[in-house]
Amino acid sequence: MPAHILDGKSLAAELRAGVKRRVASLAQRGMRPGVAVLLVGDNPASRIYVRNKTRACEETGIYSRHLDLPATIGEAALIAEIEKLNADRAIHGILVQLPLPAHIDPARVQAAVSPAKDVDGFHVENLGALVAGRPRLVPCTPAGVIRLIDRAGVALAGRHAVVIGRSNIVGKPLALLLLQRDATVTICHSKSQDLENIARSADILVAAAGRAKLVTGSMVKPGACVIDVGMNRLADGSLAGDVDFAPAAKVAGWITPVPGGVGPMTIAMLLENCLTAHAQSTA
Ligand code: NAP
Repeated sequence: MPAHILDGKSLAAELRAGVKRRVASLAQRGMRPGVAVLLVGDNPASRIYVRNKTRACEETGIYSRHLDLPATIGEAALIAEIEKLNADRAIHGILVQLPLPAHIDPARVQAAVSPAKDVDGFHVENLGALVAGRPRLVPCTPAGVIRLIDRAGVALAGRHAVVIGRSNIVGKPLALLLLQRDATVTICHSKSQDLENIARSADILVAAAGRAKLVTGSMVKPGACVIDVGMNRLADGSLAGDVDFAPAAKVAGWITPVPGGVGPMTIAMLLENCLTAHAQSTA
């Protein structure tokens, strides 16, 4: 039987509608969550991501402020902008669009964002809270993956989850979230040996490597829940995930498409983080 498709687009729309309702109820009490999005330079892909984020905020009623900064801005000047936003009471979330120009250290910039306004969940303080099992603001893509798995009704406790990829923004935080839900977690990376057999032992298989069609049908355990985080631009301009969808869908129990799976969930989780940051600021 072919896999059930996990529709991230419709779940994200549902979650965004929920955010919109909560923002409307805050408005009745005279409050409005606000987000600042900083774009440095003129990377066209980054401009699209920023536009999508500010639009999503506007649609839900969250106040958004877009700061367009020149590619020549120095690191100290960028950090000074962030510090102004840290002190701004109308702003509850600060997003710095990556990548930054080569002369700016992204780690130092991320560290300058107040952990309370770190709606990307990338600050070491928020990552540390996740490691300690007391998550505060959680990175959006991993949080979206967990929501998708929950929506499928796939149990995590005691089951084997394999995460392919160990980046600080996807693989590692996701592995921690899965561990927190009592899954038995294996993290794979580019030096892992026998990826095929490890993947095939997964009840929940998450591909976050950024390698088109890395996961073949023969790497999927029958009935497994397969989550494809990958977004790879092919030579013909089309978008492909890390999973070879058609053969994997014949074996899996659940599978996410690309596009329309994890991608829309990332923005929905960002909006939820904005509400969390706002709520924490008024607590
Ligand atoms: P990244 O920083 O490049 O990390 C990729 C990870 O995959 C690394 O840990 C790397 O191992 C591992 N890897 C690479 N090739 C591998 C292979 N052949 N076998 C096993 N592991 C391999 O990427 P990222 O930022 O985590 O993003 C991963 C993918 O998700 C990308 O396609 C990105 O575009 C996509 N993404 C999507 C969303 C969304 O909203 N849908 C959000 C974020 C990212 P090493 O550590 O050993 O190098």
